[in-house]
Amino acid sequence: MLFEVRPPQRLESLSASWLGHEVSFSYNAATKTWIALAGVSLETAPGNYSLELTGETKAEKAVSQKITFMRNFVVARGKYPRIQAKLSVESKFTEPSPEQQKQIEEGQQIKKDYLNRVTPTREWAGQFIAPADAAISDVFGSERIFNGKTSSPHLGLDFRVPSGTPVEAMNDGTVLLARPLFFEGNFVVLDHGQGLLTLYLHLSEFKVKEGEQVKRGQIIALSGGTGRATGPHLHAGVRWQGTYIDPAALIRLRLP
Ligand SMILES: [Zn+2]
Repeated sequence: MLFEVRPPQRLESLSASWLGHEVSFSYNAATKTWIALAGVSLETAPGNYSLELTGETKAEKAVSQKITFMRNFVVARGKYPRIQAKLSVESKFTEPSPEQQKQIEEGQQIKKDYLNRVTPTREWAGQFIAPADAAISDVFGSERIFNGKTSSPHLGLDFRVPSGTPVEAMNDGTVLLARPLFFEGNFVVLDHGQGLLTLYLHLSEFKVKEGEQVKRGQIIALSGGTGRATGPHLHAGVRWQGTYIDPAALIRLRLP
C-alpha cells in the first residue's frame, strides 16, 4: 500500500513504525504530502494494526521538535486459490542429492545475505510496471501441488511467456543479483531502495550485470524455464523489508 500523509505543519523528516518495520517517508512537492510504500505479509493475522508516525518539524530559529501521530488500519482476511492440478517437476527439486543439497544451501545463504537488505535512498519513482506484457498464469498466495506434495504458498506472480521474451525492470533501481541459483534458475534482483526489491526468476539470458543501474522498462533479461519451473514462464516477485508482497498489488497502485 501507499501511505500518504499531510502533516499539520512543515516537517524536516517523517518516519513510521508499521508491523514492526521502520518506514521512511519522502516529500512529494507536487501533492505537498509525504509518501511511503509499505506492505503486509501473508503471515500477518487479520486485525487492527497501528501506524505510528514521528515527524521532525522544521527548525527555523528554535530547536526542531518531534511530533507524533497514530492511526489504526484494519488488515482483512485475504482469499487465495488452491491449485488442485498436479504439477510435475524434475525429482531433483523434491528429492535432491547431497551435491544438489549443497547447491540449495548455497542459494539459501545468498538469499539470506542479499534479500533482506534495506538501502535507505529511494530509487523508484512513479508507477511500477508489469515486467512482461502477457497473461497471468498464477497469482500470488496460491497453494500448489508439486509431485503430490503441497508446496509453500506461491510468493510471486507468473506471466505466461515463451522462452526468450524480453523482461523489463519494474522501476528504476540497481542490480543486486544477476546469477544462477538452484530453484530460481537464472535470477535477477533489483534494489529500488527503502527495502523494496523486485525479483525475476527462471530466466534464459541476463542482459544486466550486478551493480548496474537500470531504468524502468529497460530490458534486464530474457525469460526461460531454468531452475524449478514446470515450463518456460516468468515468475516475478516483490520483497519489502524482508517479506514477500503481492506484485499485482504494487503494479495496481497509483504512485505519484
Ligand atoms: Zn511463480
